[in-house]
Amino acid sequence: RGEILGLVGESGCGKSTLGRALMHLIDAPGCISSGSIVFDGIDLTTLTPRELRELRGTRIGMVFQDPMTSLVPIEKVSTQIRHTVRAHDPTAKRAEIEEKAAALARRLGIAAGRPTDYPHQLSGGMRQRIMIALALMLDAELVIADEPTTALDVIVEAHFLDLLKELARELEVAIVLITHNIGVVAEVADRVAVMYAGRIIEFGTVGSVFGSPQHPYTQGLLRSVPTIDVGVSSLYRLEGLPPNLLNLPSGCSFHPRCDHATDQCRREVPVLTPEHSHASACWLHVDRGEKGE
Ligand code: SF4
Repeated sequence: RGEILGLVGESGCGKSTLGRALMHLIDAPGCISSGSIVFDGIDLTTLTPRELRELRGTRIGMVFQDPMTSLVPIEKVSTQIRHTVRAHDPTAKRAEIEEKAAALARRLGIAAGRPTDYPHQLSGGMRQRIMIALALMLDAELVIADEPTTALDVIVEAHFLDLLKELARELEVAIVLITHNIGVVAEVADRVAVMYAGRIIEFGTVGSVFGSPQHPYTQGLLRSVPTIDVGVSSLYRLEGLPPNLLNLPSGCSFHPRCDHATDQCRREVPVLTPEHSHASACWLHVDRGEKGE
């Protein structure tokens, strides 16, 4: 609670699929074939569709990449807020909903009259604030935000990220922030999980992962981000492309792109040990991780 976890990786590595899987929003023929999703001691994979519906939107909220595809274009925002609340609490009084929506709008910096607008009358940043308001109307404890700033310009993005950070602290909401933008994670997240080819390959606090990255993929990602204090003639580039998720390489999925690959890497899949404060799924660091560093 109160923390932001950044889930970062290249496009196509499975970040959004993971976020949707947490909410059981995987479209057929996709499915959750094994494993568990534990939220506050409840394994979500064991719930009935009805139990899941009760949890979604109330205790777990979601903010998608493009608010225009989440908001109903022909309904005023205030109507959508009311419908969202009543979908979970049919007895909720209109006056109470409006009072809570107004308080939340003030906190989110949404001007008083805006909720009576239609989505197309709002700016991208304002629409994304409305999405956060919808996610928080029922006091969600966890919000999954999937690339929420992609459609925003850098200034609006910076304001939006500051707001996320403040909300997490003030309301004690846990936020999973899915993004391909390492800079965004560095700015707002407390902890970071780096994904590659459908797996989390490094996990730890932002300070420790960015200050001392262990996995060669994380090291490559960080080297490819330009800094303003070191002059370079050309940017570092990770050679190769992420693999096809339906046809992964043997052993460590990163081995075709890794300068340190050994026969063991080509044969065996390195496993992350997330109980350590900073861990990576790499044979170079297995011993270190097992000692809990
Ligand atoms: Fe590279 Fe091997 Fe580590 Fe994979 S396990 S990242 S191939 S060193």
